[in-house]
Amino acid sequence: RPVILWFRKDLRLDDNRALHAACKLGRPIIAIYIREPRSDGTGPLGAAQAWWLHHSLESLEMALGKLGGRLHLISGDALDLLCDLIDDSGAEMVLWNRRYDPAGIAIDTRIKRALAEQGIEAKSFSGQLLHDPSRLMTGAGTPYRTYTPFWRALEKLGEPDDPLDPPTKVKFIDLPQKSEPLAEWRLLPTKPDWASEFKDIWVPGEEAAHRRLTDFVENDLQGYRRNRDQPSRRATSLLSPYLALGVISPARIWCETRGSSKRVPVADLVHFRKELAWREFSYHLIYHFPELPNRNWNDRMDAFPWQNDKKHFSAWTKGVTGYPIVDAGMRQLWRHGFMHNRVRMIVASFLVKDLMIDWRHGETWFRETLVDADPANNAASWQWVAGSGADASPFFRIFNPTLQGEKFDPDGSYVREFIPELANLDNKYIHRPFDAPASVLASAAIKLGTTYPEPVVDHAFARDRVLVAYAATKDGA
Ligand code: FAD
Repeated sequence: RPVILWFRKDLRLDDNRALHAACKLGRPIIAIYIREPRSDGTGPLGAAQAWWLHHSLESLEMALGKLGGRLHLISGDALDLLCDLIDDSGAEMVLWNRRYDPAGIAIDTRIKRALAEQGIEAKSFSGQLLHDPSRLMTGAGTPYRTYTPFWRALEKLGEPDDPLDPPTKVKFIDLPQKSEPLAEWRLLPTKPDWASEFKDIWVPGEEAAHRRLTDFVENDLQGYRRNRDQPSRRATSLLSPYLALGVISPARIWCETRGSSKRVPVADLVHFRKELAWREFSYHLIYHFPELPNRNWNDRMDAFPWQNDKKHFSAWTKGVTGYPIVDAGMRQLWRHGFMHNRVRMIVASFLVKDLMIDWRHGETWFRETLVDADPANNAASWQWVAGSGADASPFFRIFNPTLQGEKFDPDGSYVREFIPELANLDNKYIHRPFDAPASVLASAAIKLGTTYPEPVVDHAFARDRVLVAYAATKDGA
């Protein structure tokens, strides 16, 4: 009797424990991907990630095809579909890799129970994270709330399990009548095709993910610690979109960096691994505190007097706030479905602190526009920046967008790439066009308020305003 292998956030053959276990059973495998009504704990699949999902599924279909198999694409309620498939095929077991977002866990628990009642075993495996979130607990048996002790505990746990190589021989079952054409899922934008530039930046599929990893380890891991904060350089791994859909496993990434320590300074290696550990920490938080995407971790922030000005929010999403580093970041997001981490921190701080717009609006916008949208990383990062989260950046740490731009993009290359209308502006004013003398603006063909906006708020005013609001929230608590 066959077994069902259910692909979810693990669109890969390499280091796929459920696939490996299915192969070991020696039974024919029915490989499926279900388009569920909701994709993760935070709401519907975002448009940018839908684009990425389409191409990642296409690549997985091809990879399975090379092994003589088919990826059956089906849409609807997962439990109903699995029951139908079991009835039709006589399958006796369902295998999958665990997911850790709250809605995913709820669905999987319900399905496991319902299948067990029918005498069907559902077997789940790890692989989305380096370590299962339940393995890392404080001495008191409680979840971690701050990153540094979490990292120490993760280090103590030792190396993650070795990644498993992809299978070379698999017995598949093909049920063509059961599969829907991918095109019918309409995951790609049509008119307008706002994702037209994505394909120049992102190459889908496992092979591309592994090439990216090798390229990063060979060329950019050395110097990562120093260079990772410069948005104009391609100095980070750019693996987050692959990780978001499980096209590559974190254990594979961890393992591939292992050998690099002979060539690469330990500080760079450790720093990179610490970033992977931030991902683990975000999942640890969402696993133990499922309300992370929706509720202030620190409920003192519940009383915060958000302004939520619609015009300001619109200016932020379009990249027309008048602060070049913020606008460049928001336009990179629109054009590439991605934004450099340093700039994510700057634009998030600007939204929450300068514009006093609730972090949940920013989190939702990022979810819709990021190719790497991830329920845990996104929610944890937004709460961190907003000062409402676990281990949050202190609320009074307010980024000055002009100084941040000058520090991390000193020659303005990043700004010039995404804001062509500022391309000819002198370095001295590239992050502060509002301070430039009329003659400088004129020689760069800039008309403030016409070709490029005036600032939507004055940063010094906004800083004082938000600090007063925060102090009042604190006093009122
Ligand atoms: P690298 O520097 O190469 O890091 C390697 C991997 O470590 C990343 O791929 C990622 O999985 C993990 N990582 C790195 N930084 C962080 C971090 N601060 N928190 C958690 N994991 C991290 N990341 C997402 O994957 N999805 C999101 O939806 C997301 N939303 C964010 C929202 C805000 C407001 C902020 C400030 C950060 C957010 N991040 C998110 C974290 C981070 O910006 C991205 O993971 C990183 O920019 C991805 O680029 P990279 O793969 O080149 O990272």
